[in-house]
Amino acid sequence: YQGKHGPTGVVVYEPTTARPAAHGLVLQRELHDALERDELVLHYQPKIDLATGRTGCVEALVRWQHPVRGLLPPAEFLPVAERSELIDALTSWVLRRALADYAAWTAAGHDWTVAVNVSARNLASLDFADLVAQILDESGVRPERLQIEVTETALTFDTEIAEGVVNALAAQGISIAIDDFGVGYTSLSQLRTLTVAELKIDREFVLGLTDNEHDRAIVRSVIDLGHNLGCRVTAEGVETQQIADWLVAAGCDLAQGYLWLRPAPWPEVASLATGREEPMVSSTRG
Ligand code: C2E
Ligand code: MG
Ligand code: MG
Ligand code: MG
Repeated sequence: YQGKHGPTGVVVYEPTTARPAAHGLVLQRELHDALERDELVLHYQPKIDLATGRTGCVEALVRWQHPVRGLLPPAEFLPVAERSELIDALTSWVLRRALADYAAWTAAGHDWTVAVNVSARNLASLDFADLVAQILDESGVRPERLQIEVTETALTFDTEIAEGVVNALAAQGISIAIDDFGVGYTSLSQLRTLTVAELKIDREFVLGLTDNEHDRAIVRSVIDLGHNLGCRVTAEGVETQQIADWLVAAGCDLAQGYLWLRPAPWPEVASLATGREEPMVSSTRG
């Protein structure tokens, strides 16, 4: 957007497709202030255990409650944060808030672990593993209750350091998921040296799999690959029951998608998840 002072002095925000460089700087400053003013919020989306229909883990997804533009999705501000050191502050904020929320839902009787996304830049320094350890320590949450999702692309940023950070996190007991699996550049040899607990198949392969034989072949192969590596496999972007049924039959472990719940503040997730805790398996495994 661009802010323009109209005749009344009111700032008018217009969406623009071409984003000038200055826009990034303005947004960067705004985001910096937003972090200090606590304008970011976390929504959560459950990972559904396909065998039981239960929620075992919820993934934190950041949003910005912008005073003028409303609730902004990460695509609107993450790229700007990722281009600067702001991403460190943002990730720390997300971790602290997610662990505080974890304490709140645990107190309310929900037995969910929590997954947090991190960016390529976070994996660029070994200090990051220490930072996470420190934040866990301050929150009093056991590392086994935290999952960290790294995208394949983040792993190729500076491969050696990134792998070192990931394995240092895993050594603390944190469970590591590879996010958006299939659209990035992880080489199979990286999977040998990384301590990974979960592969998340990118929604690009999932959204239309009932209509696309190639997508089905890829998803089947990733499920196989994941299981052979001792990982759980999650499908993201499940929007229809037909796709969910196919995933159950294909032996996929976990799924996320609008079929169950859109990301929402955790109390909403808690109330919506209630009553859904029955097996959703309708087809036979094969
Ligand atoms: P992701 O981690 O792969 O998260 C999944 C995205 O797919 C989320 O978008 C989610 O809202 C969306 N989604 C979930 N179910 C469905 C579905 O059934 N259909 C469709 N079409 N979409 C679905 P969101 O929240 O806009 O997040 C986008 C990306 O931004 C995330 O992708 C993640 O890479 C990044 N991100 C989000 N929160 C954070 C954060 O706190 N830190 C960092 N570093 N990255 C984050
Ligand atoms: Mg994720
Ligand atoms: Mg993903
Ligand atoms: Mg994705």
